[in-house]
Amino acid sequence: MGLRLIFLGPQGSGKGTQASRLARLMGVPHISTGEMLRQAVADSTELGKKADAIMQAGDLVPDDLVVAMVGERLSQDDARCGYILDGFPRNVAQARALDAVLETPLDGLVQLDVPHEELMKRMLLRAEQEGRADDTEEGISRRLGIYWEETAPLSDYYRETGGTVYTVDGFGGIDEVFARVALALAVE
Ligand code: AMP
Repeated sequence: MGLRLIFLGPQGSGKGTQASRLARLMGVPHISTGEMLRQAVADSTELGKKADAIMQAGDLVPDDLVVAMVGERLSQDDARCGYILDGFPRNVAQARALDAVLETPLDGLVQLDVPHEELMKRMLLRAEQEGRADDTEEGISRRLGIYWEETAPLSDYYRETGGTVYTVDGFGGIDEVFARVALALAVE
């Protein structure tokens, strides 16, 4: 079992929670591009200023900005022995850019599967509880659409380029889903 993983799943699939838990278990950093971008917006950095409106609309931040941000993060010391990438890559162009900068190949990709209705339900609940500015109903459907069109096909990209894809049923409680993740990856 390797330590360099991509965690993929639609908004509301629980990927952030699962990725962070797995990272803690494996002792590697959890690198969430969504979190990094939200922090950049909160800090009003140059990147944050460019990303703010795009994120609120539910669109993807331009590849070059995100790729540079991730490249910089992966070059930090704590990512030398592994990492869990959460929310990146989001499309094939980002996946290719990642392949081009990685010195050690990825160990695999974990894809969380959750039915569409369940996702909408979870996201609207989260919007209510957390008041996230990008969690409007319109933003949510837009992001889900982008996920199915651009991000979900990444599993094919990785299979075709010789990677390992672990598909995990993400419908259920946090512990239940985490047990499935751990089982799929044969860790615990
Ligand atoms: P997330 O927390 O992963 O759902 O990301 C929240 C928002 O941040 C997304 O809707 C995008 O606007 C932006 N974002 C996060 N990761 C990426 C990425 N890899 N490429 C482009 N935009 C991203």
